[in-house]
Amino acid sequence: MNISKAKQLFGDKTLNQTELLEQCHNEFKTHEKELNAFITPMFENAKSKTSDGELLSGIPIAIKDNIAIEDVRLTCGSKMLGDYKSLFSATAIKLLEESGAIFVGKTNLDEFAMGASGEYSAFGASKNPIDTTLVPGGSSSGSAVAVASGMALGALGSDTGGSVRQPASFCGLVGIRPTYGTVSRYGLVAFASSLDQIGTLANTVDDAMLLLKTIQKFDLMDSTSVENISKPVTPIESATIGIPKQLESLSIDPEIQNRMNETRKMLESKGAKFVEIDIPHLEHSVPTYQLIAPSECSANLSRFDGVRYGMSLQNDDLGKQYLETRTKGFGEEVRRRILVGTYALSEGFYDAYYIQACKMRAKISEELFKALEICDAILTPTTPTTAFPLGSVQDPLDMYACDILTIIQALAGVPAISVPAGKDSNGKPIGMQLTASAFSEDTISEYAKIIEMEMN
Ligand code: GLN
Repeated sequence: MNISKAKQLFGDKTLNQTELLEQCHNEFKTHEKELNAFITPMFENAKSKTSDGELLSGIPIAIKDNIAIEDVRLTCGSKMLGDYKSLFSATAIKLLEESGAIFVGKTNLDEFAMGASGEYSAFGASKNPIDTTLVPGGSSSGSAVAVASGMALGALGSDTGGSVRQPASFCGLVGIRPTYGTVSRYGLVAFASSLDQIGTLANTVDDAMLLLKTIQKFDLMDSTSVENISKPVTPIESATIGIPKQLESLSIDPEIQNRMNETRKMLESKGAKFVEIDIPHLEHSVPTYQLIAPSECSANLSRFDGVRYGMSLQNDDLGKQYLETRTKGFGEEVRRRILVGTYALSEGFYDAYYIQACKMRAKISEELFKALEICDAILTPTTPTTAFPLGSVQDPLDMYACDILTIIQALAGVPAISVPAGKDSNGKPIGMQLTASAFSEDTISEYAKIIEMEMN
């Protein structure tokens, strides 16, 4: 089932909203115990809600649990906010509500969206529905699992350095990271504000775009919000597509590499011309990101001080109260990021680390913008490997390395889509990624639709 099909069946009166919700709820009842997609399921309260005549009327949607829904628990996958209820709804949530969408629950995630496997949640790891010995990817792990297992027809995730695209790729879904600023961050719990964007996950390119178009709107509540201007699409017959020459020196699973070559041939057969592009500092994107994101996170997460939000381990000594609450409330990875970020921002190290990383960010962005001047889109795989076994990546640096293909877009603020392009010899989904210049979501989705049709 997908959103377009459901809308058609609603129109034909062969399916109604209650039946569709029931189908999703049944999948939840059968598989949730094993998959752990949700932190706060909302199927029961969703049942009383139906709407008519809107774009997403009656469509069951899952929401990553770092996006606020008024009066619903907002945990960010952390003990710190284990019983925190949000006081207002995110702008993206309001827009979905106005379009008639039905929220079926808040989904599991790596704590505060820091992770790439779904294993860093205080609520336990989610599992990949394709093979439950595998991770679903992260950090929007539960959102991907909910859609891939049929518990929801689409989902919101957040993407700071790949957290929508990577789980989409691991679970055989479409995931879009939009142009920075086109979706309001109001009501998205901040991790790294200059990188965070809400994105969409769904079974098809059309569905993911439909959800995205619904939430892309200028919003006064986000100071970085911009009006979305859709750029015209170059048809595939006359398109130029770039492949970074640096891909060769990265260690990418040969089956994924092959699939990319086949995707290239297919697009060439449709008339697209391929060019080599140069992003000389691509390999520095991970360390750059791992300074900028933790620095911003150390500032953003300082609000969780044991006084104002969520967990509070009371102590007469205020210093001890901060220390104990933050030590017990945050998991290991979040503490690591806060420590790295605080160090990088501290006097004497600020110029050497944070400023240096900002300069490298500007450099990489410039290289990407220049590359996008000579092509309509860039083709790469989404991830260097397919979904890996639960527990198999222990070293944090190895986990960070998973993000090598999904960070440059976040650093530069440009959109990217991950689209399924078949499976490897073990039946694990392979995702291809298309990147384009700001406001070119229509371009990448147009080309992604061709990949969706021809490579699956
Ligand atoms: N995997 C990256 C990280 O650990 C990206 C996370 C994200 O996009 N939220 O930070």
